[in-house]
Amino acid sequence: MAEPRPHFFNLTRPELQDLVKSYGKEKFRSHQLFQWVYTKGVSDFEQMTNLSKEFRRDLPQLLDISNLEMVSHLKSVDGTRKFLFKLANGDTIESVLIPSEDRRTLCVSSEVGCNMACQFCFTAKQKLKKRLTAGEIVLQFLMVQKALPAEERISNVVFMGMGEPLDNPENVFKAIDILHDQVGLNFSRKRITVSTSGLVPQIDLIANSGARLAVSLNATTNHLRDKIMPINRKYPLEVLLQACKDYYKKTKESITFEYVLLKGVNDSTDDAKRIHKLTRGLECKINLIPFNEHPEADFKRPNGDEVHQFQRVLMDLGMHVLIRRTMGRDIYAACGQLRTLYEKHPGKMSQEEMRA
Ligand code: SAH
Repeated sequence: MAEPRPHFFNLTRPELQDLVKSYGKEKFRSHQLFQWVYTKGVSDFEQMTNLSKEFRRDLPQLLDISNLEMVSHLKSVDGTRKFLFKLANGDTIESVLIPSEDRRTLCVSSEVGCNMACQFCFTAKQKLKKRLTAGEIVLQFLMVQKALPAEERISNVVFMGMGEPLDNPENVFKAIDILHDQVGLNFSRKRITVSTSGLVPQIDLIANSGARLAVSLNATTNHLRDKIMPINRKYPLEVLLQACKDYYKKTKESITFEYVLLKGVNDSTDDAKRIHKLTRGLECKINLIPFNEHPEADFKRPNGDEVHQFQRVLMDLGMHVLIRRTMGRDIYAACGQLRTLYEKHPGKMSQEEMRA
């Protein structure tokens, strides 16, 4: 049986170069292909006029250049946009674009489902179904960028959507290489953040990739973290924090610690003090995320005063603390919700319902 055609968006430029070479073409043809697709936004080989007619005719047999299917694109009153994509195998994934004063951050998914089993997380309720390919990650970027008005460019990428990026390192770091390629999108590595629940052995890969590290801390004792984030049983807090110190030593880059606030569970003054203690010696920022309630978890969201009180304790200890605003509530804010809605009522997510 013939080998399946490689997918264009799965290939780094050196890989594309090898492919083009094996076809008997000059190396610089891969350069031209990259430019057409990534800087000119042209993915129809026929339109690539600096390639020979014969090569253009043969390219579809060499390469699959299909996109993801955009099932829906919703825009919130606060400007957040939520995209639902269907992969070639029929699975669906979400990407979210979050605008703020000085940036436009794209939150991408790295897996369908997730095996980390964090108790509060919506995505984790579904076991890992598929690790996304590099192309499926790159296409989230390209397709969202294309759906935006020309003057609105994505300025930052965070791997904080569905899945555990460090459980899919090969494809995640390949996608980062493709996004960064200077002939193509030339997207700065420093503007890419990889968030992990704590897969310690792979944290060094983030340091080597030039991307920024975010860690979902979420608990300050091994006792609690073992319960709400089972990965902690394998890599407990002291091991995780040591890996963060190693990252910092190697890169001198500050680290973001995400902390989901669960009412009455991890939001005490003592917890705040322990966050300070645990992160001592690191240049870091704390990102507090008030829990997004959903039917699959019993945790409660602390009220605004409680969240501010927790922030105050940390700030008084001299820490840099931000509260993540809950964006896009009117478009099914909690992680994974849009996708679930679609799976329950596929007919309802028709074109007419798109508000963007
Ligand atoms: N698996 C990676 C990245 C995806 S989750 C990681 O764990 O870092 C992105 C963030 O959302 C994580 O910090 C996670 O702790 C948080 N999160 C998950 N479910 C949430 C919920 N229901 N409400 C608020 N934050 C949640």
